[in-house]
Amino acid sequence: MAARSAVRADERNRLAIQNLTYPNVAIPIVQLEEFRKTYVSGEVEVHAVRGVTLTIQPGEFVAIMGASGSGKSTMMNTLGCLDRPTSGHFLFDGVNIDELSRDELADLRNRKIGFVFQGFNLLARTTALENVELPMLYCRPGVSGRGQRERGEKALALVGLADRADHTPSRLSGGQQQRVAIARALVNEPKLLLADEPTGNLDSRTSIEIMGIFQELNDQGMTVVMVTHELDIARYCRRVVVMRDGLVRNDDAVKDRFLATEELAKLHAEQKAVQLA
Ligand code: ADP
Ligand code: MG
Repeated sequence: MAARSAVRADERNRLAIQNLTYPNVAIPIVQLEEFRKTYVSGEVEVHAVRGVTLTIQPGEFVAIMGASGSGKSTMMNTLGCLDRPTSGHFLFDGVNIDELSRDELADLRNRKIGFVFQGFNLLARTTALENVELPMLYCRPGVSGRGQRERGEKALALVGLADRADHTPSRLSGGQQQRVAIARALVNEPKLLLADEPTGNLDSRTSIEIMGIFQELNDQGMTVVMVTHELDIARYCRRVVVMRDGLVRNDDAVKDRFLATEELAKLHAEQKAVQLA
C-alpha cells in the first residue's frame, strides 16, 4: 500500500511539474517520428513501414486498417515494444525506447502494455483465473499469491466473467475466451491496450459485445489501439488510421460512431420482432 501511494505521489509530482512547464499538455502514450522498418532476408530488403509519424494521446481509441501487407502488424510490434525501429524514433509514454536495454524494454512492455490477439492464446488446461494471473508471474514479484488472486478476480469481474473463474477454455465460448484474454491483458493495469484483429474469430453479435468491453474500458480512460479489417468494427473506435504500402494514407476521427450498447439493443429488438412474427 505504501509503495502504491508513493508511486501515486511521484506521478502527481511529475504531472504538476509538467503542467507548470507545459500547461494542459499531456504526455502522448505513443509518439512515432519518421518510423521506418526494413526486414532483410538474404539479399532482399522489405520496406514494411516507410516513414510514419503518428501521435496517440492518453484516452484515445484508435483503429488501424489497411490491406494485408500494408505494415499494420509491423507497426503494432513496435507500439508493443516487441521490436525496434530500423530508423526514426519511438517514444512510449515519453520514454525514448532507443535508450532502453533489452531487459528494460521487456520490463516496460510487461508493466505498461496489454496484448489481445485474434486467436485468444489462452493456455488450454488452465482455468480462466489462472490464465488471467499469468502476466503477474513475470512482473509482480512483490504481490502475494492472495493479492494476485484478488487482482485476477477483479479483472475477470471487469469483463463480466466473475462466475467462470474455474472454467478451462474448452468450457467457454469464443466470446468468453476473448473476455478472459482481455482480463489477462488488464491484470497488470497497463497504460495501453493493443489488440490485433480481436474480433477476427467471432460472429458479429459477439464482436459487438467485445467492442462494448473496449468502449467501456476506453470510457474509463484506457488507451486502446486495435487492428481490424472490418469497417463496421472500426466504427466503434474514435479514430481510424489507414495504412497503405507502409505509409499512413488517412487519419480521421470517426463520424457517427457506433455504440455497442445501442447496437446490441437494436439486435435484441430485431430478434424479438422475428420471434413475434
Ligand atoms: P500487415 O500486418 O498489414 O499484413 P505486415 O506488417 O505483417 O503487414 O507486413 C508488411 C510487409 O513486411 C509485408 O510485405 C511482409 O511480407 C513483410 N514482413 C513482415 N514481417 C516480416 C519479417 N519478419 N521478415 C521479412 N518480411 C516481413
Ligand atoms: Mg498483420
